[in-house]
Amino acid sequence: GERPRTIAAASARHAETRPDHLAIACEGRTVTYRELHLRSNRTAHALLAAGAVQGTRIGYLGHDGEHLYDLLLACAKTGVVLVPADPRLTAGEIEHVLRDSQAELLFTEERHLPAIDSIRSGLDRLRLVVPLEEGEAGDGFLAWTAAHPDTQPDTSAGPRHPLAQMYTSGTTGAPKGVVLSQASFWAISDLLARHELDWLDWREDDRSLSLLPGHHIGGPWWFLHGYRAGCTNVLVPGFDAKRTMELIRDGGLTTALMVPSMLQILLAEPDVEPADFVGLRKVVYGGSPIPESVLARCIEVIGCEFAQIYGLTETCASAVCLPPADHYPGSPRLGAAGRPYPGVAVQAVGPDGAVLGPGEIGELRIDTPAVMEGYWQRPEESRRTLRDGWLYTGDAGYVDADGYVHVCDRIKDVILVAGENVYPAEVEKALSKHPGVADVAVTSVPHQVRGEAVHACVVPRQGERPSPRELLLFLKGRLADYKTPTSYEFVDELPRNAGGKVLRRALRARA
Ligand code: ATP
Repeated sequence: GERPRTIAAASARHAETRPDHLAIACEGRTVTYRELHLRSNRTAHALLAAGAVQGTRIGYLGHDGEHLYDLLLACAKTGVVLVPADPRLTAGEIEHVLRDSQAELLFTEERHLPAIDSIRSGLDRLRLVVPLEEGEAGDGFLAWTAAHPDTQPDTSAGPRHPLAQMYTSGTTGAPKGVVLSQASFWAISDLLARHELDWLDWREDDRSLSLLPGHHIGGPWWFLHGYRAGCTNVLVPGFDAKRTMELIRDGGLTTALMVPSMLQILLAEPDVEPADFVGLRKVVYGGSPIPESVLARCIEVIGCEFAQIYGLTETCASAVCLPPADHYPGSPRLGAAGRPYPGVAVQAVGPDGAVLGPGEIGELRIDTPAVMEGYWQRPEESRRTLRDGWLYTGDAGYVDADGYVHVCDRIKDVILVAGENVYPAEVEKALSKHPGVADVAVTSVPHQVRGEAVHACVVPRQGERPSPRELLLFLKGRLADYKTPTSYEFVDELPRNAGGKVLRRALRARA
């Protein structure tokens, strides 16, 4: 039948057509589509009764669980805006998100209550804090919603209303609130359906795992696609390699969304073998560059269909996709991020705004129907990022002659060695091909003569420790001299955020 345009419409339809099918499975607990419909209706009424109106911001502080999605759907039904915060943030960082968003209600795991108390005096808009767990006092989320009607609330919240305000992780600056509408979340799948080109290809009988948390755009984006298709969304409270492998082996998973570093970690688990992955139909990955060696191992060991996505929080996750057909051993496309979806345009432009030709590196800009409404209360930054119908990504990259998009790196991370641009990702790619290198991140250090120099942080493969000299010899012929690191640091682990991105700022500060 026709695809529901709003989340409220999808909720009602699912409750009728597949009431007993599991919408959510989380740590042994399950929620059917009918239950989720009724629960989110109750939650919606509870929000309205607490004085939330269209545009009210409400915070969520916790790991992924069913209440996160009770709340997200309730927001869609009322026009209230969900602000999921990373539970690993410090009290000060949480304060930034809650203050900046002007959240009036907060739903939080109990363990964060002391931290909330310590910052509460700075949060004058915050009126109510609801613990997610029921606890001994029985005053948790379920109790808070219990007395409310389970009928669909009658509000005018439509697809263009803001649904979620996602905070960018701030790898390049202070976290900004990215405002996204309901329509943004489903825009790409609508485009694909119109073109009968379903690269992401959801099925009702999928059991789908998002390893990206709810506070990262990938989490709700993936959930809402699975939800729309009517499949079972498997939620896990935080990424854990052992637990994930168990789920993949025994949990009947068919599809998963991961970032490259998670794939890398899973494949490094002891005894992983192709047999572990036979149930998996598709893995979608993206969010940061993937080392070629990791991708080659994925194809060899996991062996299912792969799709890479490239995009930003500001484009509601993906704008570009490297489809399964380009994933095979030795495929010349494996270095690319993919092609824009039909109906999405990507260009590289020079500093003067001129559109560059094939292969010429400039700033990537994207025209997509999934684009954000803007940054919350940052008109200046919104204007700078959204210009003439384009979203400026801050990524350096190029489009090749076949229309494939290649991402070099964040422009802010580019290292300037005696006037020459060095893209850390390129150096990382080259170094990660060395058999003794398990993981690597490259950053800049000040240099007296050349301005900046290239510095590499290397995680050696177990039992190995390649010397800087050996790495230098290895890079000869693979990288131009000026791109070659002049200093090395060997570490056990790289600092990464929940989206799997290396925190290059932290590395730079240390170097
Ligand atoms: P902030 O914007 O505050 O620095 P962030 O880096 O976490 O936070 P996101 O919107 O999560 O922000 O990340 C978007 C960026 O991730 C892109 O601009 C790009 O640099 C990188 N990225 C995403 N997908 C890919 C991909 N497939 N290949 C290479 N890089 C990617």
